Amino acid sequence: MRFLIMGPPGAGKGTQATAVAEHFGVPAISTGDIFRANVAQGTPLGVEAKRYMDAGEYVPDSVTNNMVRDRIAAGDATDGFLLDGYPRTLAQVAELDGMLNDAGHELDAVLVLTVDREAIVERLLKRAEVEGRADDTEDVIRRRLEVYAEETEPLVSVYDERGLVVAVDGMGEIDEVQGRIFAALDARTED
Ligand code: AMP
Repeated sequence: MRFLIMGPPGAGKGTQATAVAEHFGVPAISTGDIFRANVAQGTPLGVEAKRYMDAGEYVPDSVTNNMVRDRIAAGDATDGFLLDGYPRTLAQVAELDGMLNDAGHELDAVLVLTVDREAIVERLLKRAEVEGRADDTEDVIRRRLEVYAEETEPLVSVYDERGLVVAVDGMGEIDEVQGRIFAALDARTED
């Protein structure tokens, strides 16, 4: 399985990605997590990424694409992966198409978590209290949602036209959402 998980910030992508990846026996690759790990270690990539992340903006494609190219070429991803948080721009879609094409692979599905916009800000503010993420202040949250709507939401129709989208209601308890995701993906992979 080579697939993506998409949804606005606060949709619970990260939590669900880990469970779904485990279910299908592939690594969950989160660009946000890779950036945060680099920030924590103070690497040059982390220093560069932090400026954008703290403002709720996207890290430039030039940085992000190379990072993903290296990561999906790693040994544990040769038989499949679940990408969480990439691609986020149309240019990244084209880049990922190129990477997969070079390796003779294709995407199997794009899992889209749908959410109630109003509930999201509340969910993110709660997470900010618990995790203390620097990009979880109210202004930055609103900017991240704006950037998502402008840059990333259009990707859903691009993948929908390719017949890849599996949309799942992301509202509710974690287990409940997980159950919906497994049912939807299992139905699809049995086809
Ligand atoms: P996430 O944990 O997926 O919400 O990502 C946290 C932050 O990392 C985002 O707000 C961006 O600043 C940055 N980021 C993660 N993935 C990407 C990407 N594919 N393109 C650009 N920036 C990204």
